[in-house]
Amino acid sequence: EKQRLKNQIALVTGASSGIGAGVAKALAADGATIVVNYSSSAEGAEKVVAEIKNAGGQAIALKADVSKEAEVLELFRQVIEQFGTLHILINNAGIQQDAPFVEMTLAQWQKVIDVNLTGQFLCAREAAKEFLRRGLQPEISKAAGKIICMSSVHEVIPWAGHVNYASSKGGIMLLMKSIAQELAPYKIRVNSIGPGAIKTPINREAWETTEAAQKLLTLIPYNRIGEPRDIGEAAAWLASDESDYVHGITLFVDGGMTLFPGFEANG
Ligand code: NAD
Repeated sequence: EKQRLKNQIALVTGASSGIGAGVAKALAADGATIVVNYSSSAEGAEKVVAEIKNAGGQAIALKADVSKEAEVLELFRQVIEQFGTLHILINNAGIQQDAPFVEMTLAQWQKVIDVNLTGQFLCAREAAKEFLRRGLQPEISKAAGKIICMSSVHEVIPWAGHVNYASSKGGIMLLMKSIAQELAPYKIRVNSIGPGAIKTPINREAWETTEAAQKLLTLIPYNRIGEPRDIGEAAAWLASDESDYVHGITLFVDGGMTLFPGFEANG
């Protein structure tokens, strides 16, 4: 096993299921101590913690709604109280509340922006404060801190029926790039991952039946639906010193979904 993240503390938001759980396990396998954040499923979070511990890793679960400023401040206070500092933030928590555009309520719009975009702003701000306070620890990592934002292929692919979600991910793109530009001089590395279609609870109806999965595969040139592990492996690399010169990018992990599939038939 690689131990590229040894002696590093990593906070993964929304890590009680899906991609967050996959990322938490991958970072733990690479040596990081994991804070498994969750908002509602304590049971899911404890299951992820147990899986990490059974595999020989270290983890704890902490509850916080990332869209609430007071809860985010309390989450970071607890992380720093327990572990002294933080080295890696995975801004992963996210939701969908779909509706045709003209039927979308203001509440649906605001809820998705609050969790997906404002939640990432709040957590990134608190992480950056701690990275700046602590500064570089050259024996631990080449960077003074790493922030990885979970975006989506929908930061570039428009998505009818999901205007709130696509807007939140488009917003994350320039949130990430602007923070990256501002924090680079302090050796804080900021990037995004743009997953394609990954099998998780958020999109169950898109892969659960054979018909739905066949339809989804027409959008994926590599002809395979992704697994949380695919994103976990990418996140572990992006958090490690192996990617020390990678800064301000979105790493699409999507089996080619961003390659305008459909055009190959018209060549
Ligand atoms: P998921 O529903 O399994 O995970 C989302 C997690 O966020 C859940 O654990 C949920 O409890 C948590 N969460 C929701 N609101 C929260 C809040 N206010 N505070 C803290 N946690 C909260 O779905 P997923 O697919 O694993 O999604 C994870 C991230 O990946 C999201 O940002 C999503 O937009 C992104 N993503 C997923 C896919 C995909 O195909 N599954 C594709 C692109 C991007």
